[in-house]
Amino acid sequence: MDKNLVVAKFGGTSVADAGQFRKIRKIIQSGPERRFIVVSAPGKRFPGDIKVTDLLIECYEKAASGEPFAEVLDQVRMRFKDITDGLDMIFPLEEEFRILGEALEKAPERDYTVSRGEYLTARIMAEYLGFTFVDPAWCVCFEEDGQLNADMTRRTMRASLLPLQRAVIAGFYGADMEGRIHTFERGGSDITGSLAACAIRADLYENWTDVSGLYAADPRVVRDPAPVAYMSYRELRTLSYMGASLLHSDAVLSASEMEIPINIRNTNRPEEAGTMITRHLPHGVTKHKVTGVSGRKGMSVLQIEKVMVSDGSGFSALMLDIFKERNLPFEYCLTGIDSITLVIRRDLLDSCKDDLFEEIREKLHPDFIGLREDLSLIAVTGEKATESSDANVRVLERLTERGIEIVTINQGAGKLNLLIGVPEDRYEDAIHAIYEYRQGG
Ligand code: ASP
Repeated sequence: MDKNLVVAKFGGTSVADAGQFRKIRKIIQSGPERRFIVVSAPGKRFPGDIKVTDLLIECYEKAASGEPFAEVLDQVRMRFKDITDGLDMIFPLEEEFRILGEALEKAPERDYTVSRGEYLTARIMAEYLGFTFVDPAWCVCFEEDGQLNADMTRRTMRASLLPLQRAVIAGFYGADMEGRIHTFERGGSDITGSLAACAIRADLYENWTDVSGLYAADPRVVRDPAPVAYMSYRELRTLSYMGASLLHSDAVLSASEMEIPINIRNTNRPEEAGTMITRHLPHGVTKHKVTGVSGRKGMSVLQIEKVMVSDGSGFSALMLDIFKERNLPFEYCLTGIDSITLVIRRDLLDSCKDDLFEEIREKLHPDFIGLREDLSLIAVTGEKATESSDANVRVLERLTERGIEIVTINQGAGKLNLLIGVPEDRYEDAIHAIYEYRQGG
C-alpha cells in the first residue's frame, strides 16, 4: 500500500501523560509520512482516573449553576502541568487557565469549555513535535444549529492543511460562522481524524488507541480472542453496531465513502500491525470464513401475524409507519408470507408496549400479536465467505448441536452477514460456539 500521506489520530489514553507523549514522538519519528496528527484530550491513566473531558464538563456544570468550580479546574490544570513538566517544556499554562477561568466566571459555554482539553493537548503536542498547530475552529465548520457542514469543512480543511508540511490538529470540535465553538458527540476526535484524512485524501488513516485492533469476539466473553488483521468497513460497522465499538461510526462512514483505509493501532505496542480496515479484503489475507462475532443482550422480538401479509395490501408499510411516527427504532424487520417479525431493544419497547399493541390492533387488525422478551442478537460477518459457502449453515449447525434455540435469523445476500436471535441465557454459549467454529474447532 502507498503510504505517502498519513493522518494519525491519537486517542485519550495515548495522550494521558508525558510518557505517552514520548511514545507518540517515537511513532511519528519512525514514520515521516505521518504528517497530520489529530489528538484527543488526556484520558484515564489508570482504572478509576478521570478523563480531562469529564473534568471540564464538571467545571462547566458547576459554573453554570453558580457553584465554585476552581478546584476542579485546578485538577485539569495539574493534568496539563504534569505533562509539560514531564516533557521539560515551557508552556503558558497559567495564562490559558486564567482565560478559561474568566470565561467560566463571566459567561460559561459548554462546548467551548469542554473543547479546551483537545485545544491544549494539540498545542502542547505541536510544540513538543515541532509541528504547526491547527485550531479546528478555523476549518471544522458547523452550522448555527450544531450540525456539521461537511462540504465546507472538507474544502476549508484541505485549504488549511495541504500547504503545511506537518501539523497537529485538535480533535472533537469546530466552530460556526460566528466563531462559536461546537463539539461533536463523545469520542468525536475520531470524526475529526477521518474528516482530515478525507479532506487531504490521505493514503491511510491511523487510529492509535490502547488495544491492538479488533478481536474476533468480545474479550469479556471469550478468553484471549484472536485479533483480526483485516476487516471490511461493512464488517466493522456491523460488529461495532452490535457492541464491538472502537471507532466512532461517523468516522468509519466518511472514511469508507472516500475509501481511505483505516488502521487501528496500539500506542503502547507500536510494533504490532493492528487491524486494517478497507473496502475489500486484499487477496489471501485471511483463511477465516468468519471474521468476527459480536452481539447484544436486551432484545425483544415482536411477531405480528395476518393471513397473506405479503400480498401487496400495504400491511408492512402501515406497520413501519406506526414505528416511524412513534420514533421507535427497531434492529431489523423480516416480512414473511403471513407474518412480520421485528426485533426491538427491550428498554425502548417496554416504555410503550401496551400503547403500541393497541394502535397495531386498531389500525391493522392482525390475527395474532406475539412477544418474546428474552432475546439476544448476534452478528456474524465474513467477507471471505461467498454465496456458495456453507459458513452460514455451519454456524447455525454449531448452535443447534449445543441445544441453543435459534429464535430468528436474518441473512443478508452475498458475503456472510448473519443476525441471529438466541435466548439471552444462551448468549455466551452461542458466542463461544461461533468463535470456536471460526478458529476451526
Ligand atoms: N475527549 C472527548 C471525549 O472524551 C473526545 C474524544 O476523546 O474523542 O469524548
